[in-house]
Amino acid sequence: KFIVIEGLEGAGKSTAIATVKQYLESRGHQVVCTREPGGTPLAEQLRSLVKQADLQEQIAPETELLLMYASRVQLLTNVIRPALSAGNWVLADRHDLSSRAYQGGGRQLGDQLIDTLRQAVLGNTRPDLTLYLDLDPALGLARAASRGELDRIEQEQLGFFQRTRAKYLEIAGKEPNIVVIDASQPLAEVQRALLTALAAAGV
Ligand code: C5P
Repeated sequence: KFIVIEGLEGAGKSTAIATVKQYLESRGHQVVCTREPGGTPLAEQLRSLVKQADLQEQIAPETELLLMYASRVQLLTNVIRPALSAGNWVLADRHDLSSRAYQGGGRQLGDQLIDTLRQAVLGNTRPDLTLYLDLDPALGLARAASRGELDRIEQEQLGFFQRTRAKYLEIAGKEPNIVVIDASQPLAEVQRALLTALAAAGV
């Protein structure tokens, strides 16, 4: 089975992944963990390109989108599909829903271009369950900043993350197999909600 953890920065993805991994392993499953963008040598290089702070030019939203999908196809082809075929479980830190939310919502590329791209390059490997950690971006950015992961919180950035969150919630509201977890709760509550969602999905 293929399980994905999604959420904005500061939502607590890393902790959620550790919780879910431990749960799956306690049930006797072999778990392969991945992250996006990245997860293969080439995909990690694409990740550094996109995240490079001193890029000498503005990255066009479409370029960012294509690099994300290039990274994703590498990961799907070389890691995710082989792992699933071998009977392992795959636990992914972000997947396709991130692009739909960040590039579609945040960068305002809209759904049509992204849907076309997804149809063309993703094949039919789809997550069995996506756990989306939902958090007000102002809170998430403050958490990330308090860990020294952000230099400052700009209004523009907040607007970007608000659009990203809105897109996450829009998609979660209309598609199956996506569970919204309230990530503003205390950690123990978030962990309980994760385990409840896994149990409800028969995992
Ligand atoms: O927190 P994490 O390591 O998952 O984030 C990777 C970075 O890539 C984040 O800054 C996130 O905002 C960004 N990202 C993005 N578009 C995606 C996936 C991640 O802009 N499709």
